[in-house]
Amino acid sequence: MTQDHPEGTMRIGRREFLGVAAGATLSLAMGVWPAARAATAEPNKLPPLPYDEQALAPVISAKTIEFHYGKHHKGYVDNLNKLIAGTDLADLPLERLILSIAGKPEKAAIFNNAAQVWNHTFYWNSLKPNGGGEPPVVLKERIVNAFGSVDACKKELAAAALGQFGSGWAWLVWDQKTLKVMKTANADLPLTAGLKPLLTIDVWEHAYYLDYQNRRADYVQAVLDRLINWEFAAKNLA
Ligand code: FE
Repeated sequence: MTQDHPEGTMRIGRREFLGVAAGATLSLAMGVWPAARAATAEPNKLPPLPYDEQALAPVISAKTIEFHYGKHHKGYVDNLNKLIAGTDLADLPLERLILSIAGKPEKAAIFNNAAQVWNHTFYWNSLKPNGGGEPPVVLKERIVNAFGSVDACKKELAAAALGQFGSGWAWLVWDQKTLKVMKTANADLPLTAGLKPLLTIDVWEHAYYLDYQNRRADYVQAVLDRLINWEFAAKNLA
């Protein structure tokens, strides 16, 4: 399995998700952060899951969520807080922190943990029990314009997820003109390219190995068919 377990640990505050205009919009769409950050730096916190651990079963088991959310996601939060404690970065909202250190090799460890905190929170919100199906009308129109059909969009997302060599993420993004599908490696995320993420699928092995072993394709297809949260994507687009 991929070794994605953070070694250091930190905590991230929800405050980090706020502050940048785009970030605030996403945060509100995700519905899990307070509308304003505290005036003084406090550790980043692990945002609550938007559903129970067993809510995505049988597509994603409670055991996978227990480790993925409770160990991996929490680990990134704990590592980040350790790495930024007592520094200026501890005062920054998460998105601003990520954008301020992206591409700086000496800050790679902080970037990786901070981005993974953001990515995972976004991922949990990109899924929902009884998801899949038809996107809301406005999003569906944009999908049809960009890809030809919802099925074609899902195929592109699956191809990106399967085409990502090693650990990473598949994304549906908005580039201010049209919808696009993209993939990123490791902790990288579309925000650093100025793109607006609408939804994501985690393709690190920890996301599916307990349930699907090496069958990433089966995991991705099941997520697209049964869990993907088009309403979340539509809110982010709006
Ligand atoms: Fe993950």
